[in-house]
Amino acid sequence: MSDIIQLLPDSVANQIAAGEVVQRPASAVKELIENAIDAGAGTIKLIVKEAGKNLIQIIDDGCGMSETDARMSFERHATSKIRKAEDLFAIRTMGFRGEALASIAAVAQVELKTRRHEDEVGTSIVIEGSEIKTQEACSTAAGTSFSMKNLFFNIPARRNFLKSNASEMRHIIDEFQRVSLANPGLFFSLHHDGQEIFHLPKGTLKQRIVHLFGNSFKERLVPVEEQTDIINLKGFIGKPEYAKKTRGEQFFFVNNRFIKDPYLNHAVMNAYQELMATESFPLYVLFIDIDPSHIDINVHPTKTEIKFENEKIIYAIIRSAVKRSLGQYNITPTIDFEA
Ligand code: ADP
Ligand code: MG
Repeated sequence: MSDIIQLLPDSVANQIAAGEVVQRPASAVKELIENAIDAGAGTIKLIVKEAGKNLIQIIDDGCGMSETDARMSFERHATSKIRKAEDLFAIRTMGFRGEALASIAAVAQVELKTRRHEDEVGTSIVIEGSEIKTQEACSTAAGTSFSMKNLFFNIPARRNFLKSNASEMRHIIDEFQRVSLANPGLFFSLHHDGQEIFHLPKGTLKQRIVHLFGNSFKERLVPVEEQTDIINLKGFIGKPEYAKKTRGEQFFFVNNRFIKDPYLNHAVMNAYQELMATESFPLYVLFIDIDPSHIDINVHPTKTEIKFENEKIIYAIIRSAVKRSLGQYNITPTIDFEA
C-alpha cells in the first residue's frame, strides 16, 4: 500500500483555523479593531451591514502597510508583533498569533486598502476564500480600510448557523463596547445599516462609560484605585443601589485586554456582599495592570481567558480595593437625583 498522509493546502488549513478565530461576525470585528489599535490608530470607524453578515468594514488612521506587508498580512502565522518564543511572555500588543487576517480571508470576500503615512501611493488587495484576486497600487487615505463581505460565503453550513441579525448585532456591540472602554483616548464610531449607533469622542474613562451607557452614569460611578507590587488596579464601580438584574455592564481588562474571569468576578461581587440584593449585578469597569511574564494569555485563540500566577493574591487585592471604595462612598454619601 502506498503512503496516504498529505499536507493540507493552505486554503483548507486556513479554513480550519478560521473555525476557531472567526466564529461569528463579532469575532472578526474584535480582531480587526484590535489590529487598528495595534497599528497606533487615533480614529477607528466600524461600518456593518446586516449585523456583519453582509459587510464589516474598519477604517483606521494607523500606520498602514507597505505593498509587501499588505500581501504578507494574509499569510498564516505572519505577524509584525512577535519574533521569537520569549516574546510570548512580554506581549503588549492585542494581536500576536498572525492568524486573524488569514482566517478572515479564508471565509469571506475581503478588500484591503492601506497606505503608510510616508508613502505616496497605497496598495489595494482583493482576496476571496484565501485566493488573491487582484493586488494593485491605489490612492487611499493614510492608514487602513479593511472590508469583508459575505462572511462564510464559501461555507453555507456555517452561514446558516449564524443567529438572527439582532443577536449577531448584540455580539458586535459587546465587542465594540469592550474595546472602546479599554481605549477611551481613541475615537470610535459604529454605523449599522446606514445609521450611526455610537459616536465616541476621545476622552477619559469616565466620559467613555457615560457615552456608552448613558448620562445617568455620571452620578453612579465610584473610582477604584490600588497599587501593589503584583498588580495596579484602577477603574470604576457602580453604586450598589443601581445594580441591575443582568450582568451586561461588568468588565475586567488585563493589560488593556478584556477578559472573562469568574474567579475575579467573584472577588468584586464578594466585596458588594450585604450592600445589594442577591441576584443583582453592579457595573464595574476594572483595569488590572500586571507584568506580562506573570500571566499566560495564550490559553485560547480568542484570548478572553488568562492564567494568573498569583490568582489568590490578586483576588484579595481586588476584593479589598473594591470594599474600600464602597466604604469611602458610604461614609460620605452623595445625594443622587435620578434623571
Ligand atoms: P496579528 O495581529 O496577530 O499580528 P493579523 O492576522 O491580525 O495577526 O495581522 C497580521 C499583520 O498584519 C499584523 O501583524 C500587522 O503587521 C498587519 N496589520 C493587520 N491589520 C493592520 C492595520 N489595520 N494596520 C496596519 N497593519 C495591520
Ligand atoms: Mg490581529
